Amino acid sequence: NQIPSVLLANGKSMPQLGLGVFKVNQASDVKQAVKWALEAGYRSIDTAMIYHNEQWVGEAIAESGIPREELFITSKLWNADRGYDQTKRAFQETLNRLQLDYLDLYLIHWPAPGYVESWQAMEELYGLDKIKAIGVSNFEISHLKNLMAQTAIKPMVDQVETHPYFQQKALHQFLKENDIFHEAWGPLGQGQANLLQDAVLNELAEKHQKTVAQIIIRWHIQRDEIVIPKSIHQNRIIENANVFDFKLTAEEMNQIAVIDKNQRHSHDPNDID
Ligand code: NAD
Repeated sequence: NQIPSVLLANGKSMPQLGLGVFKVNQASDVKQAVKWALEAGYRSIDTAMIYHNEQWVGEAIAESGIPREELFITSKLWNADRGYDQTKRAFQETLNRLQLDYLDLYLIHWPAPGYVESWQAMEELYGLDKIKAIGVSNFEISHLKNLMAQTAIKPMVDQVETHPYFQQKALHQFLKENDIFHEAWGPLGQGQANLLQDAVLNELAEKHQKTVAQIIIRWHIQRDEIVIPKSIHQNRIIENANVFDFKLTAEEMNQIAVIDKNQRHSHDPNDID
């Protein structure tokens, strides 16, 4: 049951499933979750400066003894660090907290004004091999077009809220056409009860003898998304990665396609300043 990898536009390989650690605030929880994930075969961890847990992720990685080149570590530039110099400084601070000398993926967390200058700093760090792939998060089509019109390197990833009740169909298509990988955050709708209780998803879970969480994660995988479900419970960490031994049919994918409610949980990316 190995987790497959995808190839980003620059040829960098990235595990299609990783562990998210948003809102995991206790050192012991972070370290335990990362340890359990690595034991379960995860190699990709998604953190961010604003999660205030990079230090604990770094400790867990160091203690794991897993060779650095087998891991895929993502972090993100916070809005307060927009701009060229700030981005370089913030990136180095992130590396220091993680005890790493390079990142696999660095993302601009939100399209806050100044993201073009931040991107130029990231292009430079990418050229220096300090970041193996660069991308954005919460960018909508308008932000992507604006960024691409002004910079040399296209983002390799856009990490955006995506789940069966917020499927992002237009953005998904745009990303595909532009060879930018769609990475889903909040892939389980952040655990909201109405999604996990959805009738169609429960029927599919019953049919495949899987949990609703596994049906949802499998749906993301078959949509060619990268997915980073979060849990701090060992059984769920294992469960969430155990989605490579079954397939949803085209018809089942269509059944999920029509339950979209265009129901966003996060802030609107256009309201960031
Ligand atoms: P998620 O959709 O991964 O939901 C996590 C919640 O779902 C858990 O807290 C738990 O309540 C529930 N859950 C997890 N596994 C389950 C299971 N097997 N069965 C039942 N319930 C289960 O939400 P998330 O944590 O917000 O998103 C995942 C990751 O995406 C984050 O940890 C973070 O790394 C990233 N993220 C990025 C942004 C961004 O702005 N770029 C925003 C939010 C999250």
